[in-house]
Amino acid sequence: MTRSLRTARRPAADHRLGVEGLERRSCPAALGLVAWEGATVPARADTWIARSERPLAAMAEAGWRTERLGTGLELIVAPGVSPAAMRAWAAGIEGVAGIEPDFAIRPTAVPNDPSFREQWGLRNTGQSGGTGGGDIAAVAAWDVTTGSRSVVVAVIDSGFDYTHPDLAANVWRNPGEVPGDGIDNDANGFVDDVHGWDFANDDADPMDGDGHGTHVAGTIGAVGDNGVGVTGVAWQVSIMGLKFLDAEGSGYTSDAIAAISYATRMRREFGVNVVATNNSWGGGDRSLALRAAIADGGAAGILFVTAAGNDGVNGDRRANYPANEDLDAVITVTATNRSNRLPSFATYGQVHVDLAAPGAAIRSTIPGGGYATYSGTSMAAPHVTGTIALVAAANPAASATAIRGAILSTTRPLAALAGKTVTGGLLDAAAAVRAIQGSATPPTPPTTPVVRPSHDVGDTVAKAYAVARQESTAVRLAARVGDGSHGLRDVDLYRIKLAAGQSVTIDVDARSLAGPSTLDSVLRLFNAAGKQLASNGDAAGSADSLLVFTAPIAGTYYVGVSGAGNEAYAAKRAGSGRAGSTGVYEITLTFGRVGGLAATGIHALGFPDEAGTGVQSVGRRPKR
Ligand code: CA
Ligand code: CA
Repeated sequence: MTRSLRTARRPAADHRLGVEGLERRSCPAALGLVAWEGATVPARADTWIARSERPLAAMAEAGWRTERLGTGLELIVAPGVSPAAMRAWAAGIEGVAGIEPDFAIRPTAVPNDPSFREQWGLRNTGQSGGTGGGDIAAVAAWDVTTGSRSVVVAVIDSGFDYTHPDLAANVWRNPGEVPGDGIDNDANGFVDDVHGWDFANDDADPMDGDGHGTHVAGTIGAVGDNGVGVTGVAWQVSIMGLKFLDAEGSGYTSDAIAAISYATRMRREFGVNVVATNNSWGGGDRSLALRAAIADGGAAGILFVTAAGNDGVNGDRRANYPANEDLDAVITVTATNRSNRLPSFATYGQVHVDLAAPGAAIRSTIPGGGYATYSGTSMAAPHVTGTIALVAAANPAASATAIRGAILSTTRPLAALAGKTVTGGLLDAAAAVRAIQGSATPPTPPTTPVVRPSHDVGDTVAKAYAVARQESTAVRLAARVGDGSHGLRDVDLYRIKLAAGQSVTIDVDARSLAGPSTLDSVLRLFNAAGKQLASNGDAAGSADSLLVFTAPIAGTYYVGVSGAGNEAYAAKRAGSGRAGSTGVYEITLTFGRVGGLAATGIHALGFPDEAGTGVQSVGRRPKR
């Protein structure tokens, strides 16, 4: 049997097939995946290489094929045999020293796009000055995957030029909508929403009137290896255009919410595989409605990638939203330049900024088929969004939590980022893609350091736990309702100091913890006399509670955490309430800038560099 198979085979044809498989680098999904030594590795299906002293043809099972590869090396094609069975077979044959899959080897995937050499953020060899390295290791990531059009990302921005020759092939098309027939074919409430929607003008055309969104879209997913212009982090992806910023780069919170909700609904109700939205904008006051929309998207499995801001400040001290929302769905990105440094415009923050990505002098697409160099944290965020698209292509079954973990647990530490971001590191697309591909259990992302009080947090204002304000202006504490001497009537009180006009955001996580707590939390805020000034039982449709409070006068205030059922305790008398729910929780207190937030509008967070010079702009977005 084996001999007849050997006679029948066509070695030359087989080799060509193999090489074709290896060279199809823009379609790596065609490679087989083999579970091997705890990892899933790309390899040729049903094919093995054995180290053997002698030919194995005589030992092969019926239907197998063997071939001498070289001295002491045998190729075995064994259709349908599991790795474990192959190992067992090899172990039972004398003279076989080992067996392994026919691992896929592919040429290092460098795209043929002519401007790729200017894209230092993807591959930095020091080509234009600066430090070699300091890129996102895109080339090594592309050895694993270059992306997939079955992965959808939404660009929530100024729209994008979906006719751009370097973007058109990667534009999302709503499968349920017939273009231009004036009918809402998929009954999602939007007529002719073929590529997305324009929430700024309330029409079906998300064409870019500004340039910002097209630039962002190109960094995520300009068509790679097409011999034209630039390449995106993902060579193949489907980009949904959700426009809400107008031609001046400004927009309203209500339109941003509508855009986020569109993506959420398309994923949840219409099965569109939206894995992330890119949100290179900010600067508005905090909106709890916007927060709720982001949280709802997160619950549906969509990550919310956002720019840290271009004010060049510590964002922990000077809050900027949505960058500072501490939701699990949010990934906040600051910018680095080609010298591995934070550009002067880049807002940072050890508590609220997760990681950095290249964001100075970034070459990408602009409307009308052109290309331009922009700078801003707006340009950094889409490097992360593009990497999320690669990660999702590498492991289509990965959850949003796993993808977030893969991104945040694999950053490369940079000296300039130590103490300036949660991870202290720069995006590493190759490591992220390998992490999601090779690990059976999703890596867990780093979290804000949690302080654990060593004893029960006091039940009265007199015995309240004094919240220390250290380096940052956010403090996270872990404690438990129900561990004090008052049992089900346990209350935890925290003492804080606020300046006149200063805000504090108090966020309790209990039901939303990784192992959900039994606590249905209630938050109350008291003045020094124990009089209640504010309270909250449920935030954003969850049983967790959230309070944003602005101090009318400078002084000491108290924050009380209790369980639902125990809402009416007296803050000055221990055990004065009724039995309530109990359980562990984490409480995060984020203190606002003294004097409150400046009431600025929402605006885009990127700006064109000086025309033609390639010099990095380091100021804020120019007024137009
Ligand atoms: Ca529709
Ligand atoms: Ca291209």
